[in-house]
Amino acid sequence: MVVIRGATTIPCDTKEEIRKAVSELLEQIESRNSLKRDEVVSLVFSSTSDIHSFYPAKAAREAGFVSCSLFSAQEPDIEGGLPLCIRCMLFVEKNLSPSHVYLRGAKILRKDLSGKFNIAIDGPAGSGKSTVAKALAKDYHILYLDTGAMYRACALKALEEGIDPGDEVAVLALMRDVKLDVVYENGVQKTLLDGRDVSEEIRKNEVSMASSTVSKHASVRMHLVEKQREIAGRMSCVLDGRDIGTFVLPDADFKFYLTASPDVRAKRRYDELKARGAEVDFEKLKEEIVRRDEQDMNREFAPLKRAEDAVLIDTSDMTADEVVAAIKRSMQEKI
Ligand code: C5P
Repeated sequence: MVVIRGATTIPCDTKEEIRKAVSELLEQIESRNSLKRDEVVSLVFSSTSDIHSFYPAKAAREAGFVSCSLFSAQEPDIEGGLPLCIRCMLFVEKNLSPSHVYLRGAKILRKDLSGKFNIAIDGPAGSGKSTVAKALAKDYHILYLDTGAMYRACALKALEEGIDPGDEVAVLALMRDVKLDVVYENGVQKTLLDGRDVSEEIRKNEVSMASSTVSKHASVRMHLVEKQREIAGRMSCVLDGRDIGTFVLPDADFKFYLTASPDVRAKRRYDELKARGAEVDFEKLKEEIVRRDEQDMNREFAPLKRAEDAVLIDTSDMTADEVVAAIKRSMQEKI
């Protein structure tokens, strides 16, 4: 017995749309797996809780699946889940290596089966980029590339070597000498400098401003952008940074620009640093964040700005879950 999975979405909850979507999905599953109807033993559907008007199992019966057992169930309501989605499992009496089929908006559920894609998330410090990028990467089973960590590692190295982060020639020479690696352990990005794990150290507050200063240098940026493009070119990933949608991946499939009020952003950073056990002064931190953003927005080469085709989300009054849900909805609409 072999199990073939499939999913699709409907534009609105009507009988007609359900019939159309189910028969299209089953046709595709049959043809991609060279199936005959009598080889299907059982057909199980689940649909999201926003679908009420018709049982997908009935639609399958109408589409000619009359000899197998059929069943439909409703899924619980999950915040940020794909809306108006129908999933199915076919139990098949045949020896084959199954071709699972994900159509329409459901393609996003299994991008591994339906092609590579990249999500670009830009915005100022504390706008919530990394939290939502991590959540998206987990939900879509894709890589999360934190590009800020690369600039931070570069700044850390300069500070350690007593090099002025504003000295482009010296910083670039340093970066050519040192081996900067981004590796993944259990899905978590680790930043390595000559094999040394600096993932924690680069989060220190003193590294933040220095990273903004090293990131002004065009040659240093190009050195790191090359690595970012290489990773994004190989696999599906969500990248967060300042210039992803405008410069690193101007053709990214999905682009978002997150922002929030300076007070909210400073509070998020404050809480983050406090949680790491750091001593921080809120007003000073806020002033530093504003200064860093100004520097990032006003540098000559690849400054922080919203790409024209990026979806703008003000996260000031939103929880991380709400932002993730808004991003997923927007991606869904675009497909
Ligand atoms: O996002 P994070 O705060 O870790 O980034 C640190 C600094 O790295 C930013 O202030 C910015 O100057 C720089 N950066 C950048 N381009 C990126 C990512 C980060 O210039 N794509």
